[in-house]
Amino acid sequence: MNEMKVQMSELAENAKLALHFDLNTDCVSEMLADTGYEGENAEAEVSVERVGSSSDFRLSVDIKFEVRFLCGRCLELKNEKFDGYSKFVLMPKSNLSARSNANDEIELEPADLDVVFHDGESIVLEPLVREAMLEALPTHNLCSETFSDECRESFEKNIGESAAKDLEIAQVDLRWGPLLKLKKNLKKD
Ligand SMILES: [Zn+2]
Repeated sequence: MNEMKVQMSELAENAKLALHFDLNTDCVSEMLADTGYEGENAEAEVSVERVGSSSDFRLSVDIKFEVRFLCGRCLELKNEKFDGYSKFVLMPKSNLSARSNANDEIELEPADLDVVFHDGESIVLEPLVREAMLEALPTHNLCSETFSDECRESFEKNIGESAAKDLEIAQVDLRWGPLLKLKKNLKKD
């Protein structure tokens, strides 16, 4: 894989750079560490545009990727594909220190929250690609709507048909199934 970095000297005034990255399984998995998702291959299109002759840049990440995860509802190992698209504005860190007040406390303006800072020499793309993936992924590791029938079938198979029916009647979130079953078994003793 190419190094995911853009040297600013590569971009002249108003220049736009289109980059393509093929990310392997290890690379994607590393980026998704601690999320409960494991990565398969991914393809990312990154566009970087210099704003005039300034050190500000507009950047977008368009990524198609596949992940493997254990569904928290049906307890099956699943593969699903996602499309991520995120936009960023990049500014040099020196802009930030220029705004420091006398007490050396950095005052961030609300607009800064969408801004990523660079060191003035290069833009490291990996965290931005990672963010585009995280934004596209659901917070909970569950089968998506497309697979809801499949998820329900596996849930009934894995957790028990009767438990699923009980829950349907009680209108309880299916994820509480194992807990309810445990509670029932405890009552039997
Ligand atoms: Zn599922």
